[in-house]
Amino acid sequence: MIPRAGVIGWPVGHSLSPRIHRFWLAELGIQARYEAVVVSPDWLEDTIDRFRVGGWQGFNVTVPHKETIIPLLDRLDPVARAIGAVNTVVALGNGQFEGRNSDAPGFLASLRATRAIRIDRPAVVLGAGGAARAIMAALSDAGIPEIRITNRDRVRAEALASSFPAIVCDWANRSDALEDVGLMINATSLGMSGQAPLEIDLSRLPVSAIVTDIVYRPLMTDLLLRAQERGNPTVDGLGMLLYQAVEGFTAWFGATPHVSQDLRNHVLAAIEHAD
Ligand code: NDP
Repeated sequence: MIPRAGVIGWPVGHSLSPRIHRFWLAELGIQARYEAVVVSPDWLEDTIDRFRVGGWQGFNVTVPHKETIIPLLDRLDPVARAIGAVNTVVALGNGQFEGRNSDAPGFLASLRATRAIRIDRPAVVLGAGGAARAIMAALSDAGIPEIRITNRDRVRAEALASSFPAIVCDWANRSDALEDVGLMINATSLGMSGQAPLEIDLSRLPVSAIVTDIVYRPLMTDLLLRAQERGNPTVDGLGMLLYQAVEGFTAWFGATPHVSQDLRNHVLAAIEHAD
């Protein structure tokens, strides 16, 4: 049977995962299928049961299933357990599935691919949603000495800081949290096409600090443009998206794919076409 993998979500048409995985399948000459499957919350359990007997090597999980899928899986790896969300599922054999989360390693790999991540200075995370949770796990894992978190809804920031040691700063005073940091991460959806830009005064941010935005539609957000103008090194959000895909592909198809400039251009073309 030809190996199968895919992505489930509701909706799923916006997902760039098919474009990424099909590029690698073609590049590596692997005979396999990667499909986008629209699955409503009501059909999640039935779909997983169907996948158990359908020759699936595994699949990616996108909104709204990243948390609700957890009780339906047979195992969770420690990263997914720490984050409380699954974006990659791997078949273990005998119809069993393991849930993983590749957003945290993907985020770190993206930073490391562009420039060394500074672990001697504090980092500031803006946002406390699902992506911020994965980033907090990644920063803790990397050994960052101090993590500051700020979010519009302070209660959500405090909930995150109870799982991963961090200092919670008021959203109203978010510009003050930039003092002395070596890494600034926008993990809110502000700056995304159709959303307001992230409003923040960068004057206290050291010029040596790396600024990264996990929003990738558009690739160059207002935050990244402003950071570049004042001389800060920047890392865009596309790298995280591409590097998080490596773990699933390797587990499903038995070959480690490469995040190349050709892949970036291939995915970027779809992003620009959609904008
Ligand atoms: P969530 O919905 O879980 O979280 C959204 C976050 O944005 C929350 O912190 C929310 O704050 C904040 N936010 C939204 N609107 C506003 C606003 N008007 N003012 C202030 N804060 C606001 O989304 P995710 O965490 O899943 O995703 C966040 C972004 O990251 C998205 O743009 C997504 O596309 C991108 N992303 C990129 C990835 C990549 O690989 N590059 C991976 C995953 C996500 P509050 O809690 O107060 O509502």
